[in-house]
Amino acid sequence: MTNTSAPSRKHVNVDQEEVAKFEALANRWWDKSSEFKPLHDINPLRVNYIDERCSLTGKRVLDVGCGGGILSEAMFFRGAEVTGIDMGEAPLNVAKLHGLESGANVDYRQITVEELAENQPASFDVITCLEMLEHVPSPASIIQACTTLLKPGGQLFLSTINRNPKAYLFAIIGAENILKMLPKGTHDFKKFIKPSELSSFVRAAALDFKDLCGMTYNPLLKEYKLSRDVDVNYLMHASKPNIEN
Ligand code: SAH
Repeated sequence: MTNTSAPSRKHVNVDQEEVAKFEALANRWWDKSSEFKPLHDINPLRVNYIDERCSLTGKRVLDVGCGGGILSEAMFFRGAEVTGIDMGEAPLNVAKLHGLESGANVDYRQITVEELAENQPASFDVITCLEMLEHVPSPASIIQACTTLLKPGGQLFLSTINRNPKAYLFAIIGAENILKMLPKGTHDFKKFIKPSELSSFVRAAALDFKDLCGMTYNPLLKEYKLSRDVDVNYLMHASKPNIEN
């Protein structure tokens, strides 16, 4: 039977063109001088941020939009039991192969977070969804599904890019056109998300907002650091209330 179909309901919150961009680059995912250099550069900062806030050792962790597994592996090596999901087949294959080399025993699966939420609600202590929300049709739906997947008292970590003239200048003109850190067209300014919008999605999912933290890039030093400046890249931490609350 031929596949005539519109995307199934469970895949409705996936932008195939966005996923295709990452499929095309997947073989360079672990090349630290490639398009993925920024993810390698920010990785220690974000893993430390997450670990300090929720102590990863022994935690059951879901990494949503894990790509080639840069964050998933780092959380595994901090002692977490990690499941990584992504809708890109090529990045997942790269992640699986890299895990064989590095010894990171991460469970990688091609499934949407919405579908996983139907299958196994309330089963993760910690969920991360970093640098993915600006590539999906409905970030609110992703956050709702993450909430369903968290155990009561579980922790959610999100990151994305703010939407304002400075973010346009740094994340698109600077990173894609001048510094050529990312391929042109990696990001669509309209899909960037203001912290106020992200926190309204968090509140709509009945999560408690915990923290907002900037990840700022210094183009002269070519370095990222965590800071209070959330004008461009930022992280957000939220938690699911305990049942008795
Ligand atoms: N989170 C990783 C990778 C970010 S790149 C990191 O920060 O290191 C964005 C990833 O999101 C890509 O691997 C892409 O395939 C994935 N993606 C995009 N839309 C998705 C969706 N709806 N569901 C799952 N993964 C998605």
